[in-house]
Amino acid sequence: MKRNPTFFHKKISLLGSILVLGPVCLLAGCGGQIRSYESADIAMGTVLNQTVYTAGEDETGHIRELVRTLEKEELSFREPDSQVGAVNTYLSREGIFLEDADSAGGGVRVEVSEGLFTELSALYEISRASGGAFDFTLGALTRLWNMDAQAAGEAEVHIPGEEEIARALQNCGWEKVTLEDGHMLFSEKVLLDLGAAGKGIACDRIGDYLRETEVTGAVISVGGSVVTWGEKPDGSPWQVGIVDPETGEGILGTLSLTGEWYISTSGDYERYVEVDGIRYHHILNPENGYPARSGIRSVTVVCHSGLVSDALSTACFVLGREEGEKLAARYGAETVFVDDEGNIYLSEGLEGIFKPKEQP
Ligand code: AMP
Ligand code: MG
Repeated sequence: MKRNPTFFHKKISLLGSILVLGPVCLLAGCGGQIRSYESADIAMGTVLNQTVYTAGEDETGHIRELVRTLEKEELSFREPDSQVGAVNTYLSREGIFLEDADSAGGGVRVEVSEGLFTELSALYEISRASGGAFDFTLGALTRLWNMDAQAAGEAEVHIPGEEEIARALQNCGWEKVTLEDGHMLFSEKVLLDLGAAGKGIACDRIGDYLRETEVTGAVISVGGSVVTWGEKPDGSPWQVGIVDPETGEGILGTLSLTGEWYISTSGDYERYVEVDGIRYHHILNPENGYPARSGIRSVTVVCHSGLVSDALSTACFVLGREEGEKLAARYGAETVFVDDEGNIYLSEGLEGIFKPKEQP
């Protein structure tokens, strides 16, 4: 049995692939001195990399706190006091579905904040549109696989058996949830896991925050999700690298983007263990409960929303190229698929925007 404890950190290497200028001082054409501020921090269990251009104060510390607070107070299923953690704890109470069923018209009713309700509604819609390939209620299954800890070498390697998986799947399913009037209504027990969209949601919140500041340009990555915002002082496009899934380290090409974009990548190289030559990675197919095998090594989605790019990258990975491209097109999103043979497939809108890395 071969263990590979290194790949939690591979996710971090995407960040290294974002090409940014070194720390420099630049004079803006209009007079104010624009400085660049750079930082690398740990947030949301991954690396938060920032390059921010502004004539005002250094915003990188505020942005780091914004991401950490989002994780702690809203999205994390590991934090018992986050909204997601509290919903999961509530639904896990012994007998809750018997006690609360009548008062809630056949289900358990939970109130969430306005912001989270809006985001959950968008995630519900992507769950529906993807036929459940993306599913924000996979907590029981993702806990069973525990791939974050396995891949980081923090838990024994354990490939769950079919019975365990079938049991976990009984407690999954976006169709068991209804969203109405700021509430979630659960007809049966599920556990929320927003891990496939959380980093994209963080990018959205960063974009909203930047609009309130003097920042003129920024490129910020939260793990595999990136936001490009405003412009560089020299007017040149942002350069966002896409990791080569074969190695999980170098880049296979670069996206040149101008203005505000949200880019997310899902790949089988990010968190995995190998057992008897088989790779078990962290993106699960909700139909059978096993790591998705769709002939794809990685998918990158580019669009105007972090939540959508992140959720779609996961959905597209599960669906494979043909269905994934159709789904992304419905959201006006552009895609880069890399298949098992290393072939790169670009959607039409990325031609001329994506440049493969020059071979040495
Ligand atoms: P990403 O790297 O954005 O594709 O997200 C993967 C993470 O989302 C995993 O670590 C799980 O926590 C969770 N996840 C895995 N498979 C799915 C799925 N099919 N739908 C929604 N969330 C998933
Ligand atoms: Mg995702």
